[in-house]
Amino acid sequence: MPAYLTGLVGSGIGPSLSPALHEREADRHGLRLLYRTLDIDVLGAGPESVGEIVRAAHALGFDGLNITHPCKQLVIEHLDELSAEAAALGAVNTVVFRDGRAIGHNTDVTGFAQSFSRGLPGAATGHVVQLGAGGAGAAVAHALLALGTDRLTVADRDPARAAALAEALNARFGGGRATTGPMAELPAALADADGLVHATPTGMAAHPGLPLPAALVHPELWIAEVVYRPLETELLQLAGELGCRTLDGGGMAVFQAADAFRLFTGREPHAERMLEDLADLVATPGL
Ligand code: NAD
Repeated sequence: MPAYLTGLVGSGIGPSLSPALHEREADRHGLRLLYRTLDIDVLGAGPESVGEIVRAAHALGFDGLNITHPCKQLVIEHLDELSAEAAALGAVNTVVFRDGRAIGHNTDVTGFAQSFSRGLPGAATGHVVQLGAGGAGAAVAHALLALGTDRLTVADRDPARAAALAEALNARFGGGRATTGPMAELPAALADADGLVHATPTGMAAHPGLPLPAALVHPELWIAEVVYRPLETELLQLAGELGCRTLDGGGMAVFQAADAFRLFTGREPHAERMLEDLADLVATPGL
């Protein structure tokens, strides 16, 4: 029976659903796969120790690692090669060890792209507004422009962060397709938009509430969420009541895991079964 050793490196990752998602999928394939959490807080190590952890995991026979906050950028200088998405974005969430080399990928980008195409087929992307320009926001914005969004307006309560993301996107994709503006301009931007992507932590159990005034959400918008704990955030509840087309954050979480699983094992993941697992896991108290 093929056996795989994998894991996740990051801070505060105890509650991560990745071990269960990967191990359940491996069971369905008849593979023996262990997925360990290598939490830098538990290890008493700083984010800059990610290189040392990656080298140690490689030496100990790991097949690959997922990398999360705050190590997605810091890990890059310790890798031998990057996929096109990871190189363009400057962030890695998956490392594969193969033939003595460590290769970085970004399945947050490919995961959001697949979730969006599957969950909101045919959605208009003439003008999309994105709220949140952090780690998830950078991956999602890259995916949206790669999928053909004509114009992306990025807003963040930290305007410098939004401006830096828009500038990086324009340098990468050209054509001035990404713009930014103060939060005060959100009403005008949303009145004219086809869709809203929400990429801030608002709506998670620890950050309840709506990330923007309810009056700005209107039925002509589609709404895509990145928060997936809970799957139905207050924003998605409101959007559902208004009759908007909606996409929850579970698809991105699952497709990024499915793409990483394929990279680790070479097996084709059953993404629909993994979506069922995620719904089951987020509904399980204590996980
Ligand atoms: P982050 O801290 O890197 O970025 C969050 C950004 O949102 C910050 O720039 C902050 O200034 C901004 N912000 C916060 N509240 C705001 C508000 N009300 N209005 C405007 N801007 C606001 O966080 P992150 O890593 O990007 O994660 C964001 C969320 O995405 C988290 O809930 C995380 O769990 C989720 N996430 C989901 C997936 C997935 O696969 N579905 C993947 C990664 C992250």
